[in-house]
Amino acid sequence: MTGAAPDLPRFPLLHGPTPLHEMPRLREALGGSSRVPRLLVKRDDLAGPALGGNKARKLEWVIGEALAKGATHLITVGAVQSNHARMTAAAARLAGLGCTLVLVSPHDDPEPEGNLLLDHLLGAEVRLVAPSDEAENPHEAAAIAEVEARVRAEGGVPYLIPLGASSPIGTVGYVEAVREMEGQLGAMGVRADRLFYAAGSRGTQAGLLLGARIHGSSWSAHGVAVSPGEEAKRERAAGLVRDAAAILGAEVEIPAGEITSDQGQIGEGYAIPTPAGMEAIRLLARTEAILLDPTYTAKAMAGLIAQLRAGAIPPDETVVFLHTGGAPALFRSGVLPAILEG
Ligand SMILES: *Cc1c(COP(=O)(O)O)cnc(C)c1O
Repeated sequence: MTGAAPDLPRFPLLHGPTPLHEMPRLREALGGSSRVPRLLVKRDDLAGPALGGNKARKLEWVIGEALAKGATHLITVGAVQSNHARMTAAAARLAGLGCTLVLVSPHDDPEPEGNLLLDHLLGAEVRLVAPSDEAENPHEAAAIAEVEARVRAEGGVPYLIPLGASSPIGTVGYVEAVREMEGQLGAMGVRADRLFYAAGSRGTQAGLLLGARIHGSSWSAHGVAVSPGEEAKRERAAGLVRDAAAILGAEVEIPAGEITSDQGQIGEGYAIPTPAGMEAIRLLARTEAILLDPTYTAKAMAGLIAQLRAGAIPPDETVVFLHTGGAPALFRSGVLPAILEG
């Protein structure tokens, strides 16, 4: 490993480093070593409890801070099928904290499936709120205020985790992920040239970019956007880089204008599967027995596959794909049948 872990409170959710391994069958299926670069995958789909995912890395530091502040109850927000909400519910159990999930649902009575079922299984309180066109959803804000007041009235201390745990302290999780991966690459004697990942609420992006600077990574970062609104999101990423750097005492600034993400895989929008993403899900399952999810990692992998097919990445390079999790979304009704039909 390069350097030491930051001296900040951390609540452990990962049991050691996630695997970093080759994908030789995928490489072969896409044209073999004469045409396709060496392909590695960083298995953050295996990070943390209750089906895992990238949010576990962020929550280690977020919950570390919450416990240090005496919190007794976690509150977070997300879409009704949020992986982050499910991971927060799981982490709350391990940390001995109460947990309320304020989930935005266009229906009063959303399908009991995927992450929402797991939220209930993990014993979280679920509060459904209606969507809103406003930048700050007033229904969400009202529900949060209500839960905070209730927790305080009962003598507890609420702690609010923002969307995707993409806070400055959550961003530290992906700075640490880079440190872990650099140690693994070093031990394997591999110099990585590119890292592909899904870009959502941007805490992962900010942590990767900051971590690459801090640890002097050899790779360039290739984010693949999974939802529109790039301009505001790259501003958010730049702000997270600045604020997480301040927490870590690192002198790094990355202007929003230097942060780019592939906009070609969004399709009709957030959580709406795309044909290219569904093809990527089939291909990864049938070559490497790796399960991608339709909302995030399928779109990111489709972005990588498109570049490989276009011959845009020289075959003497090494590419790492960061698998950020999300498999519960495969078990929403109709999703796998549609993937199998393609
Ligand atoms: C949340 C999430 C992402 C995106 O991470 P951000 O830090 O929100 O950009 C990617 N993949 C999966 C499976 C996720 O749940």
